[in-house]
Amino acid sequence: MASIFSRIVAGEIPSYKVAEDDRHYAFLDINPVAEGHVLVIPKREVDYIFDLTDDEYAALQVFAKHVAEALRQAIPCRKVGMAVLGLEVPHAHIHLIPMQSEGDMDFRRDKLTLSPERMAEIAQSIASKFRKTPLQ
Ligand code: 5GP
Repeated sequence: MASIFSRIVAGEIPSYKVAEDDRHYAFLDINPVAEGHVLVIPKREVDYIFDLTDDEYAALQVFAKHVAEALRQAIPCRKVGMAVLGLEVPHAHIHLIPMQSEGDMDFRRDKLTLSPERMAEIAQSIASKFRKTPLQ
């Protein structure tokens, strides 16, 4: 059975997409810890991120870097934080979170409740800044 994230990539479950290429997909986390909380995934379904091949892992990180560049332009923040947990969804993913302070990386704190309109607006603003080959 396909993971919930594979079903999102397939379009069977809706998502607020921010970026995509042939091997990767990026979308807003449905329970964000901060505005602009993005998940970046490989389309190939692998549970544990460190089980990706070296090539897949490197490509995922480069794609995440490009998403982070777009995120930083779209959402005012000090830096974009990156985290990998993977305890809930068994499909490798990188969390990218615009940070104002260390507390923005606290996954135990109450999640934000944003309207569908706000989620769509955030996703669109990140997507509009996304470039596959930004700063080298
Ligand atoms: P983790 O596996 O890294 O511990 O957490 C999984 C993350 O995926 C959580 O932050 C959760 O809010 C997010 N998530 C779980 N199901 C969905 C979903 O169906 N759609 C989206 N956009 N995010 C999800």
